[in-house]
Amino acid sequence: MPKKKRPKDLIPYPKSRFLRVKCLNCGNQQIIFGCSSTDVECLVCGKLLLQSTGGKARILTKILEVLS
Ligand SMILES: [Zn+2]
Repeated sequence: MPKKKRPKDLIPYPKSRFLRVKCLNCGNQQIIFGCSSTDVECLVCGKLLLQSTGGKARILTKILEVLS
C-alpha cells in the first residue's frame, strides 16, 4: 500500500544533504550543506542560515529544495 507523501513544508530533518535555502531576510538563495559543522551565514546579508549545535545542524531559514 502506498505511503502518503509528506507535505512540502515538512521536509524530513536533513542529513548529509545539500539544501537550497532562501534567506528570509534578503531573499538570497544559496546552497548549503545540511550537516555542516560550522555556522553558515547568508552570503549577501550575513544572516545566520544554519546553526551548528554540536553534531546536528539547525536550519534557521526556509528550505526550498533538498538536493541528494
Ligand atoms: Zn540574506
